[in-house]
Amino acid sequence: MNYSPSRPIRKPKKTLSWSNTRITLLEYCERKYFLNYYTFALKQDNPDLRAETLLLKWLKSIEMRVWEKSHFLLSDYLHALKKWEITEEKIEELKNNMRREMKADFDYSKERDYEDREDFFWKFWLSEHFYGEDADGLLEPAIEKVCGNLDRFIASPRNEKVQDYFNTAKFVYVEHPRTPDFESMKVDVSRIWLRDVSVMAWPDFWATFSDTDFLILDWKSGKEEVLDNSISDQLKVYALKMLLKKWLTSLNWIKIEAYEVYLDSMNSYGGILKQEDIDWIIEKIKHDVEEQKQLLVDQNPYKNQPVDLMMFRKTTSEKKCEHCTFRDVCQKLN
Ligand code: SF4
Repeated sequence: MNYSPSRPIRKPKKTLSWSNTRITLLEYCERKYFLNYYTFALKQDNPDLRAETLLLKWLKSIEMRVWEKSHFLLSDYLHALKKWEITEEKIEELKNNMRREMKADFDYSKERDYEDREDFFWKFWLSEHFYGEDADGLLEPAIEKVCGNLDRFIASPRNEKVQDYFNTAKFVYVEHPRTPDFESMKVDVSRIWLRDVSVMAWPDFWATFSDTDFLILDWKSGKEEVLDNSISDQLKVYALKMLLKKWLTSLNWIKIEAYEVYLDSMNSYGGILKQEDIDWIIEKIKHDVEEQKQLLVDQNPYKNQPVDLMMFRKTTSEKKCEHCTFRDVCQKLN
């Protein structure tokens, strides 16, 4: 069929997507997964709850803001380092900018009218403010933690290594966490027979030393997860993405080294990827997608319409609910 210019072109429907974050949320609490990814499904029966859920989706606790801002500040530093702009003054300037940014966000969040559900301005900052908690004493320690994370990075051997990569690697990528490029995050998974789902993954930092030699780094903050097999699923997905970009699923002669770097301690976890890591993550994605499909009408990933909300099980852990940003809507849905 030919499309004339006057013929409206139908926007493609949003098919089901898989990401490590998404599947972690599904395993954490199915209802939270619903509220986060299928908010639109509340529109018809619960327009008010939908508006509140949309608002809550943008809120984060102070702890999560520390993680987010630490990423921003480290990315600002690495971009300046890449351009050879780093001096003592520049580092102080970056930290002062971050102090001002966090203070401005905090003040906005504190003053905001959270009853106004139609105000979808982007700065919905702290869940503590939404829930009427006194958060005044949390800002300064949060700022110090974010700036301290950068100081720790700069003082660590990792900083020297990164400078070395800028000198020696053929290509170095540093992410732009303030303006994520969702198109670039997509992984072409047709090679592994997953045509009906979008897979999203993008590392914080990677270096290409040659056509067969890569390094991936992912910045982390908070509780350290020490894994038995030492390479996290997240890192395996990034490595798979690199292989698939080369239209490969086997490592063969390709070396991919990957590490999660915890900014609070500068401890790193990871190593050189093995073929069994790649095989494992391919099977895991396939398995997860089947799980996700169970919660879709007709198990159809193209339509991606959720089954009834009540089919999404709530976690039985009260501890998880204590800090959940959706706890207000969740209670109302009960
Ligand atoms: S409050 Fe608890 S049950 Fe409800 S969405 Fe959050 S984690 Fe799940």
